Amino acid sequence: MADGRYAPSPTASLHLGNLRTALLAWLLARSEGSRFLLRSEDLDQQACRPEHEASARRDLAALGIDHDGVEVRQSERHDLYRAAIERLLADDLAYPCYCTRREVLAEAAASASAPNGPVLVGAYPGSCRALDAAARAERESAGRRPSLRLRTDRTERTFVDRVHGSFTGAVDDFVIRRADGLPAYNLAVVVDDAEMGVAEVVRGDDILPTTPRQLVLQELLGLPALSYAHVPLVIGPDGERLAKRHGAVSLEDLAAAGHDASAVLGVLARSIGIDVDRPVAHAGDLLERFDLTRLDRSPWMVPDALVGVQG
Ligand code: GLU
Repeated sequence: MADGRYAPSPTASLHLGNLRTALLAWLLARSEGSRFLLRSEDLDQQACRPEHEASARRDLAALGIDHDGVEVRQSERHDLYRAAIERLLADDLAYPCYCTRREVLAEAAASASAPNGPVLVGAYPGSCRALDAAARAERESAGRRPSLRLRTDRTERTFVDRVHGSFTGAVDDFVIRRADGLPAYNLAVVVDDAEMGVAEVVRGDDILPTTPRQLVLQELLGLPALSYAHVPLVIGPDGERLAKRHGAVSLEDLAAAGHDASAVLGVLARSIGIDVDRPVAHAGDLLERFDLTRLDRSPWMVPDALVGVQG
């Protein structure tokens, strides 16, 4: 059994692209007889809203995407993230970094012209890696609040994705705790997937480039390896990443425009390679015909007739 999950950030209502990813994650888990878990990625409380969490739950239920156990909220799991960060610090696998975003960019650009560096474009050049206690104290007394970065001794990592095949991505000393004290996404996601017993990650392929970092962190924390399927994003009729301005993109707006949940499921089913010839009342109706290998690797363009085209 390879438990799956869906982990939306409640910063807006789910749009067709999010719903398609959720459907794929659910179909993959359920077609293998596995559990399906839900996690609200609500660490950034400024950006997240309870109403978006509630509407996401309603939308998933309307499509027949059920889940096991209670929905987990990242905002209630700070102890877990803290414990992981403390372990990394104790093993000297993390260090404070006082650089601002602008300084990181400037240093990365400068090291680009150095004789033997850098290996990656835009990677953190390691400026704070070797600061001694005095240098740290000096920055702290100047009022700088550090982020924490992972100490990695590698520059890239390759893995095999179930949709994209072999993928190699950059790994640098990335941030695991932000300067404002919040755990970084890459840290929280790795800790959560392991703690929840997730074995199979299905998510949008906008995250594919950062997955190698998560794999390295997983290894350093001694956590089990997972299987990944990064599914293509959804684009509007104009070729741009799907967004509100494209018209009716949420389930609620689509219903108001005359497309009920069953109609949306039918469109989503066709978009993932399932040829539907009768109304699909429930995600479960698609289970028998689901085959991940039939998923196109390129972005899916939403038909104009569904979202309505707006200028
Ligand atoms: N919370 C992320 C999002 O809504 C997904 C992260 C993940 O699935 O790992 O895009």
